[in-house]
Amino acid sequence: MTKTFLENLIEKAKLQLLILQLQLRVIFLQRKLTIPNLPMPKILVLHHGAGAWGFAKVNKHHGDSWGFVSSLGFTLGYHKWIEFNGKLYIARRDNEEGAHLAVEGKPHWWNRNSVGLCLQGNLEIKKPTEWQLMTLKDELDSYVARGFEIEYHGNIEPTACPGKYLVEWLKQNKYIK
Ligand SMILES: [Zn+2]
Repeated sequence: MTKTFLENLIEKAKLQLLILQLQLRVIFLQRKLTIPNLPMPKILVLHHGAGAWGFAKVNKHHGDSWGFVSSLGFTLGYHKWIEFNGKLYIARRDNEEGAHLAVEGKPHWWNRNSVGLCLQGNLEIKKPTEWQLMTLKDELDSYVARGFEIEYHGNIEPTACPGKYLVEWLKQNKYIK
């Protein structure tokens, strides 16, 4: 039996959709675009910038180094960033792959299953600013309320990140043990 006009039309439309999906995939891969398509993570990992560079500089540096463009148009490897003045930048959606951990053997697991939040400054030698802590507290409380576990970089990989002053503050405020 020959196919009806409608069946042919549907088949053609399906094929066109498939081609479009493949073309989009190629674009994503070429530009290394990440998209917010992951299950919502349940871990928040804290970092420090380890230097005085602000959001714009680190965003550009990560772009030059590995260039994973987020759905929001940023290349910062962390999902979020808090500047000295307390301003919060959102570079990636929470359920979008990050580029903030290089854990041996399973970097992708960590980058797909955790949200990375970074504070400007070297918090190993200097305390975070009061403005940073105010913003951080709001963020942490919001993540905890959504069932997230709070972690810090040095507890996952051997590194001083996010600095002793931040780790101290996290303990004092009972975000970590
Ligand atoms: Zn770190």
